[in-house]
Amino acid sequence: GKQTAQKTKTLTKTAPVAKLTSKEKDHPAPPPDDVLEPASSDRKNGAVYHMGRLLGKGGFAICYEGRLAGTRQKYALKIVKSYMPQKKMEQKFQTELQIHSKMNHPNIVKFHRAFAYEKCTYIVLELCPSGSLMDMVKKRKYITEPEVRFYTIQLAGAIKYMHAKGIIHRDLKMGNVFLDKDMNVKVGDFGLAALLMSGKDMTACRRTTLCGTPNYIAPEILEKNKGGHDHTVDIWSLGIIIFALLTGKPPFQSQTADEIYRRARERDYDWPKLETSENYISEEVKDLVALMLREPALRPEPDHIVQHPFFTCGWMPRAEEMSPEWREGSPD
Ligand code: ADP
Repeated sequence: GKQTAQKTKTLTKTAPVAKLTSKEKDHPAPPPDDVLEPASSDRKNGAVYHMGRLLGKGGFAICYEGRLAGTRQKYALKIVKSYMPQKKMEQKFQTELQIHSKMNHPNIVKFHRAFAYEKCTYIVLELCPSGSLMDMVKKRKYITEPEVRFYTIQLAGAIKYMHAKGIIHRDLKMGNVFLDKDMNVKVGDFGLAALLMSGKDMTACRRTTLCGTPNYIAPEILEKNKGGHDHTVDIWSLGIIIFALLTGKPPFQSQTADEIYRRARERDYDWPKLETSENYISEEVKDLVALMLREPALRPEPDHIVQHPFFTCGWMPRAEEMSPEWREGSPD
């Protein structure tokens, strides 16, 4: 509608116009509406991105690798249709742009710029070529405690940074945590993020799909008549992520969303029985997860998380020691 067009205009003014070329033939042809054919820009100094491989599709975005012409610099180009049929989507996207563009942390996907081109909005993001934690767990079934130590410390740092800036992410899950080429984690997708102190709006979107995946939602978000929730929902989600990394599935996984919510409310979860030394699960990590899944006010803050005995009871890999078999890619 009209509003959408106006917002798009603002974006165009502040960002360079792109000339896009799609040379590679090894990725599926984008839908005709996504406007990726070569086009020329009449503006001087307009950035040109060469489109590379398809990185993935999300709820309302499609992501390609893009190389800035004249450089070797690669980015992730997230492409979103400027016209969104649903108001909620439009809002999600505006929030994402506003909040994400203010984030600057080594464990948060860097937001470089956004611009409008033809009928789409392009977001130029730091490239995370190793996929998400979800992709990794799908491929390997579960990951080891030393790796979980490494990722948890980085995630705690990212959460501390966001909360200090007054931002609650609200949608932390394995699929939103990406990996760079050195296997550092990078939190992405700020579509559900919110400024602290604005909890009321959550009541409105309770139980809707835009509120994220049932598996990672803290129970207090679903409770009626509670004036929203605070930043500790992100700590809850981190607890779920740690459990899922170590076991291959989230703790409350069930057939229906309602059953997931019931189990979450009752903290009804079991650690799997020890199978091999590979998927060893220490008492320390069980304790840490239990702390993160307590009621909101009792959950540990990021600074306390990293002081937990889990981080000293076993080996902590250095960056260069992280999972080489993943980097080489194992045959499926
Ligand atoms: P949506 O907000 O619509 O869910 P996402 O942000 O999840 O879209 O992006 C869709 C997909 O694109 C992701 O699942 C992932 O595979 C890929 N992707 C997103 N951001 C990046 C990035 N910075 N680097 C590499 N791949 C990315």
